[in-house]
Amino acid sequence: MTETIDLNSLTAEAEEKLKPIFDKYEKTSFINTKKVLDTFREERVSESCFMGSTGYGYDDRGRDTLERIFAKVFGKEKALVRHTMISGTHALTVALFGLLRPGDTFISVAGKPYDTLDEVIGTSLHNDEGSLADYGISYEQLELKDQRLDLEAIEEKLSSKYYKVVYVQRSKGYLDRRTLSVEELNELYRLVKRVSPDSYVFVDNCYGAFVETSEPECDVMVGSLIKNAGGGMAETGAYVAGSEKAVEKISYRMTSSGIGAEAGATLNTLKNMYKGFFYAPHTVCQALKTATLAAYIFGKMGYETSPEWDEDRHDIIQAVKLLDGDKLCAFCRGIQKGSPVDAFVTPEPWDMPGYSDKVIMAAGTFTSGSSIELSADGPLRYPFIAYFQGGLTYESGKIGIISAAEEVLALDKQ
Ligand SMILES: *Cc1c(COP(=O)(O)O)cnc(C)c1O
Repeated sequence: MTETIDLNSLTAEAEEKLKPIFDKYEKTSFINTKKVLDTFREERVSESCFMGSTGYGYDDRGRDTLERIFAKVFGKEKALVRHTMISGTHALTVALFGLLRPGDTFISVAGKPYDTLDEVIGTSLHNDEGSLADYGISYEQLELKDQRLDLEAIEEKLSSKYYKVVYVQRSKGYLDRRTLSVEELNELYRLVKRVSPDSYVFVDNCYGAFVETSEPECDVMVGSLIKNAGGGMAETGAYVAGSEKAVEKISYRMTSSGIGAEAGATLNTLKNMYKGFFYAPHTVCQALKTATLAAYIFGKMGYETSPEWDEDRHDIIQAVKLLDGDKLCAFCRGIQKGSPVDAFVTPEPWDMPGYSDKVIMAAGTFTSGSSIELSADGPLRYPFIAYFQGGLTYESGKIGIISAAEEVLALDKQ
């Protein structure tokens, strides 16, 4: 690199240019906040909702109310919101096992699902013990076509054979693909209901919640509480929301047949879940602003970014294609250095359970592994993409991004 980049003036230029885009995010945040607040009021949330239960957790008003709130805000009939679903992957697993039976086939229509699903589906080369395949459940996959759902191919597939579950991942996750919009997912829903009405439309909604003013129409949608819907407050857990029928089936897998959603002690987890859901539209807005700033800055530094700064966003993930393993590590070092917690540690690539390549992660977070907080990760494989997300506040997110840019620039100068 010959010309020197002045990050201060580049950031100032970015913020000027991004004003109308930030405005749009704030409007979305307002609409979603109003929806959440109205629902809290309708559901008569009071301090007693935060009490939590012990033992079996029967008649836990706080838990039942929170689950109704999630369902209503997400436009669904029923929801499960539990700290005992330990992650997004766990909730996706519970939901798939809740719906599918031996002999059934399901299909992913947006290409390969998130890495951790390999071992759940049984397509991993490492370990298929206890996977869906191990239980006699078959899996098929359709790729995106020109970065969009291939509706023609989907219609053909669904007309040729019965698929119990039509699985679609909204966010790009760790893949070099486009994130799907709510409108595209709704189009898929209408198509499936026309061609194969008994199939469950299943959306992996991780990183998607509150990015738009509504969530996708579907029979089941799943997300993590240490991503968008937890608002940076929930300390663990995940949600499943959807039709009464689907969520009830899933609840029997989550606990046991006969018990379903009626039990499950909440201990002292509820207050942070309520508070987090209340914050979530705002927190997502902060993350979107941070991601868009990163796209602008790294774009101007000559890197390919996805989405680009002026593209519409449908999740909070920002991909920066660094094309070089050392730069990916530098990017993550910079994010780590710019974090409020563990700023002094240096992230190293490691073999993370559930992932097939080594992964480097930067996460100086209050909640371990939380990716609604400023965090960056990327598998150590070509084209060395840093997937960056989160930022509890735009101000701190901005500091983190500048720190990452400094580290990458320092490498260029060597
Ligand atoms: C994060 C994520 C998952 C898995 O969630 P974990 O909580 O990390 O297990 C699944 N799908 C997508 C698209 C994700 O982003």
